[in-house]
Amino acid sequence: MKKALLLLLLSGILFSCNRDSVNKLSDDEAIKLIFESAASSDESYMNLEYLTDNFSERLACYPQSIEAAKWTQKIMSEMGLDLVFLQEAKVMNWKRGDVEIGAIKLGGDLIKVNICSLGRGIPTGESGLEANIIEVYGLEGLKALTKAEVQGKIVFFNQAMNPKEKNTFKAYGEAAGQRFYGPILAAEYGAVGAIIRSLTTSIDTFPHTGVTKKAMDVQTVPSVCIATEHANLLSDKLKEKSDLTFYFKTNCKNLPDTISYNAIGQITGSEFPDEFIVVGGHLDSWDNSPGAHDDGGGCMQSIDVLRIFQEIGYKPKRSIRAVMFMDEEISQGGGKAYAEEAKAKGEKHLFAIESDRGVTRPTGFSFDMPQDKIDKINQWSYLFQPYDIELFIRGGGGVDIAPLKDLGTPLSGLLTDPEHYFDWHHSGNDTFDQVVKEEFQDGAAAMAALIYLIDKYGLE
Ligand SMILES: [Zn+2]
Repeated sequence: MKKALLLLLLSGILFSCNRDSVNKLSDDEAIKLIFESAASSDESYMNLEYLTDNFSERLACYPQSIEAAKWTQKIMSEMGLDLVFLQEAKVMNWKRGDVEIGAIKLGGDLIKVNICSLGRGIPTGESGLEANIIEVYGLEGLKALTKAEVQGKIVFFNQAMNPKEKNTFKAYGEAAGQRFYGPILAAEYGAVGAIIRSLTTSIDTFPHTGVTKKAMDVQTVPSVCIATEHANLLSDKLKEKSDLTFYFKTNCKNLPDTISYNAIGQITGSEFPDEFIVVGGHLDSWDNSPGAHDDGGGCMQSIDVLRIFQEIGYKPKRSIRAVMFMDEEISQGGGKAYAEEAKAKGEKHLFAIESDRGVTRPTGFSFDMPQDKIDKINQWSYLFQPYDIELFIRGGGGVDIAPLKDLGTPLSGLLTDPEHYFDWHHSGNDTFDQVVKEEFQDGAAAMAALIYLIDKYGLE
């Protein structure tokens, strides 16, 4: 206890010594201070625990999302930032309902399996749906069949994410088509339903949900995702008895759009208050999930960037905003609302970075911007090497900040160790206890360090 107190006092002395002089430090000294500040504070990490405990399952169209936005506004207000506000955003309104039953029917046996509806999907109706199964390997597997082979059946899309692919985001991208387009393609082939293997690298009993394409002028069929352990079971049972039936019942609903909010906190720039740098994540999560890694963690890291600047006494030249975007998971209403208002007000956004790849160990940054700006940032890469942050690559920024690209804003994404991200993604398994404090803190520091350099030197 005494030792902890002493450390606290020492860090207080360290930061107060540098409070007035941080702007005079060399870049490597300033970045060292940023990492020390991140490592010395539990505040944002504990806020992530509070968020996941109290506002779990905060899909944008649910009341929890508004409660989470108001709470986030409150914690940012208590930090004494220069400006804190909520920004209205139109969000898609899809409700899961309260019935999700799935079972394999094998002779007289009924084997219950874990399923859940896909976002924007349609329900089965009161009596549920029962039919024979046709198992296929992804969209291509279905396209290889004739309509006569599929007619009246439930299509079971059972393409697993490639377990050998180290870049799990790539493996996810390769398999995600079956979830997004599968139900509509199944309808085109005369199927009555679709079951999608959960997109995860783990074999577990959690259904990992996600969005499916909204059927506008085309037919679709009721669809659910199935836990990987149960997908394997279903596949095994089909090998034993190919004419078994599957039953599922859901009562999700597609409703007219509704309103939720982005939560925004700002340190106003000392030299160029009308130029903005954004650091953000998305506050909404899937409604079957506490949303710790995806993406409560990215939000709390973004707030931590502002906390770090306050603590080390850095007065940015430009206005730095932490933005908790709403509705990333379904229709990206928050990202669109933010960019629309920025455009309407003629705000110049110098740079935007998003943390939405899990708050594991930071490994680098992806950049979506002209090459000359990437070249400029690359000159600073040596400053990150002491922290094992070495990947400086071309790539997307993030879904929420993407609409800022139309305003010419250079975009970036925080890269983190992707190994386990899809074990947690879009499921009840995305819990706070699986967020490692030091990794979370290092991710916040990495973004703060990059923003510090861009604020100090610009990107021209
Ligand atoms: Zn996310």
